[in-house]
Amino acid sequence: MFHINDNFTLLAESYLFSEVARRINAYKEAHPEVDIIRMGIGDVTRPLCKAAIEAMHKAVDDQADSSTFHGYGPEQGYAFLREAIVEHDYRARGIDMDADEIFVSDGAKSDTGNIGDILARGNRVAVTDPVYPVYVDTNVMGGRAGMLDTDGCWSNIIYLPVTAENGFVPALPSEVPDMIYLCYPNNPTGTTLTREQLKVWVDYARAHHSLILFDSAYETFIRQDDVPHSIYEIEGAKEVAIEFRSFSKTAGFTGVRCGYTVVPKALKGADSKGEMVSLNHLWNRRQCTKFNGASYISQRAAAAIYTPEGKQQTRETVDYYLRNAEVLRQGLLDAGLEVFGGTNAPYVWIKTPDETTSWEFFDILLDRCHVAGTPGSGFGPSGEGYIRLTAFNTYENTVEAINRIKKVFGTSK
Ligand SMILES: *Cc1c(COP(=O)(O)O)cnc(C)c1O
Repeated sequence: MFHINDNFTLLAESYLFSEVARRINAYKEAHPEVDIIRMGIGDVTRPLCKAAIEAMHKAVDDQADSSTFHGYGPEQGYAFLREAIVEHDYRARGIDMDADEIFVSDGAKSDTGNIGDILARGNRVAVTDPVYPVYVDTNVMGGRAGMLDTDGCWSNIIYLPVTAENGFVPALPSEVPDMIYLCYPNNPTGTTLTREQLKVWVDYARAHHSLILFDSAYETFIRQDDVPHSIYEIEGAKEVAIEFRSFSKTAGFTGVRCGYTVVPKALKGADSKGEMVSLNHLWNRRQCTKFNGASYISQRAAAAIYTPEGKQQTRETVDYYLRNAEVLRQGLLDAGLEVFGGTNAPYVWIKTPDETTSWEFFDILLDRCHVAGTPGSGFGPSGEGYIRLTAFNTYENTVEAINRIKKVFGTSK
């Protein structure tokens, strides 16, 4: 008889977004006349930029002629894209990087989820709380999480609370983790770490031989000078960190699929005999075995966003979302609510007023303002008492949502 991977049975069905949808639909059925503004959208909504579209059209035509046809490409990604990444995302910021430290993929979800393949099952994992659920769930699948406790925490995972009390800056843990997931600018809180604050973690990882898994999917939303775009801006980070990037939020590639992971050659980890082994070598081996590369068409589109036109066009789209985020942030403050994030990220994180729970406040916003958010408690125990709104709706709907919120909350204060 064959057996399944029991770790999968430990995972609860992902209930957050289905429960949000269920409550919205139930409300609509009871109140068919109301127009609900969805501020929980976790996907981009603006179309791809012209430079990427043109590059894709041309790449499709390449596939129509035997002299320009591309079959299997390099598992690590085409040199034209790896070199553009090195040039524009690293060397332009004063970071030395080689193209063979870049691994192009179909996105950051796959890579953040698959990286555990090359890491020991016995490693202790730390995550910030609240958190992007992929880091936790993939470690449950990989057997690193232990059991789910009644408080909503996994017994073997070290939780690093990030709340208004600590200014959304995770404190160093008392128990030393082997793997530390950090995501900045953060999903779901929309907050950032300064260079100084990130350096604390790099220094800690160096001192304790821990590995930092740094997800910078929202890097392109950064507008503040003291917020690092890459963890490799911090001295010594190449010895302790893997960085994940994605073109999804950067350039609207959620449906095109392309991202990349940086595994520096200076990064080494101990095997069970204590010998130091190159992670770049292991990840390359893993990718060559399990992955046949992102599509030629996606990679041509990704390379086009590094052209002068592509850069300008993607910047305009990100600025559109950032304007929405600012409308949200300022409007919520004006309504007397406590709000975080939203300046270098497409998310604002609201403290629910009057001790209401995340779900209670979700229902209040839905019922009184006809605005739907995402309950913070769905992202981890320390998300309780918060709700997330996103900047991915239209500018007009964002303004309308804020007007409704101000009408209800602005007058009660
Ligand atoms: C959206 C998102 C990603 C990107 O995932 P892709 O697979 O590249 O689309 C990665 N990490 C976080 C935290 C995200 O929110």
